[in-house]
Amino acid sequence: MGTGNGASSSSNPWTGAVRRWPVWQEPARTLYPVLMVELTAVVLGGVLLARQPRPALAEVVAAVVLVLAGVAHAEIALGVERARRRIAHGNIVDLSSIWTFAAVIVLPAFDAGLVAALVYGYFWVRAWRLRTRLYRQLFSMSTVVLACFAGSAVLHYVIGPGSLIDAAPAVVLPGVLLAIVVYTCVNTCLVAGAIALSSREASVSTMFASWDENMLELATLCLGALTGAALLINPLLALGVVPPLVVLHRAALVRQLEKAANTDAKTGLLTIAAWYRSVEAIFRRGAGRGPRPTAVLVVDLDHFKSINDTYGHLAGDHVLTAAAHAVGAEVRSDDLVGRFGGEEFVVLLTADDRAGPVADAVDVAERIRRRIGDLRVEIATPDGPLTVSTVSASVGVSVVGPGPLTQVSALIHAADAALFVAKRAGRNQVRLAGPAEVVRDPAPHNGAA
Ligand code: GH3
Ligand code: MG
Ligand code: MG
Repeated sequence: MGTGNGASSSSNPWTGAVRRWPVWQEPARTLYPVLMVELTAVVLGGVLLARQPRPALAEVVAAVVLVLAGVAHAEIALGVERARRRIAHGNIVDLSSIWTFAAVIVLPAFDAGLVAALVYGYFWVRAWRLRTRLYRQLFSMSTVVLACFAGSAVLHYVIGPGSLIDAAPAVVLPGVLLAIVVYTCVNTCLVAGAIALSSREASVSTMFASWDENMLELATLCLGALTGAALLINPLLALGVVPPLVVLHRAALVRQLEKAANTDAKTGLLTIAAWYRSVEAIFRRGAGRGPRPTAVLVVDLDHFKSINDTYGHLAGDHVLTAAAHAVGAEVRSDDLVGRFGGEEFVVLLTADDRAGPVADAVDVAERIRRRIGDLRVEIATPDGPLTVSTVSASVGVSVVGPGPLTQVSALIHAADAALFVAKRAGRNQVRLAGPAEVVRDPAPHNGAA
């Protein structure tokens, strides 16, 4: 129905429909670069098509084999791929690049881009459609197509204009490796750039997939190169890549499931069971091997019940997540942060040397307390945005003393007792466990030395 200047849109249903596309809701800073990337892929594709000679029959056969293999792969891996996307936090790579990179190896640039678009499009329709909007998928497809163009350009710059099989043996490996690097860089940088533009809070970890996912992509590209080489010898040989691909895909899902099982869904921290497992592994490892435990912190949000009561449990959840991020942001990557339960977190601080653990632990606890106290948590509510700024936390600290390692449970007990003192003393403060609370372990357990 017409609103304001709606006369023109309602007079033409097509214009109205186009105006309602979700893409126009993107802010200009994201919309224009995304459209620019898509346009570049189309224009470059047009230029390459115009300059490309008529493809040989072998190339047409290879392109058809790759598209069919991609379709078969999408169908075989449907359940695994959907599950991977359902449980994923952040970027995950898809294994369709095995076919798109094989296309880079065996086909001219335009044909490689076309195979990439078809395989990627099929994966989207079958595996991801419900979770990803069309314009985002077109952007991802464009980045893959551009990666194919760039990979192909580099490969043929190194090996010459002909096929890989006719190239001088000495240039084959450098050409393929360089093509893998350039393909990955173009794809990764374009996706990371789009994420950075779409969210002001994007961090390096949200812009780039995890180390594991990047390694998976690298393995897939290597398999893609081998598939391409097999195709050049005999298309049937390329079928040999299917079993390792299926195993790789399943292994990726198992790793993801294991990570999900160890991660607290609300806060992204370790679950308490996973925290204990990791901490006990550090304690068992003993001195001189990897990080050494120095202290345990127990962090408890103050009067959290009243935050729930005042703003509602959804707001409480947002505050909880923000507080968990605050704790994680103040410790180093070797330290272990877990959700103890409810609105409590537990931290194992570690060090590589023995210098000043007491001062360090209290300093870290103070930093955590201050950071949580400085939180301004923005929450969208039906009545408009709401800012919760009344968050604070109390922290109990217990320090690993010299001599045999204290048991983890004794350290937690001591930190908990110190936390109780902090609460009794008025909250929003850090307390160090006194000598009475730092329980020495009379009989150090396995390997603790
Ligand atoms: P104190 O300063 O003594 O710690 O007061 P408190 O209100 O934080 O402590 P209390 O133990 O009385 O209440 C903890 C509250 O934390 C009650 C519970 O509903 C809330 N809570 C626990 N887990 C969650 C959660 O996952 N989400 C939300 N929104 N609230 C939670
Ligand atoms: Mg509590
Ligand atoms: Mg509390």
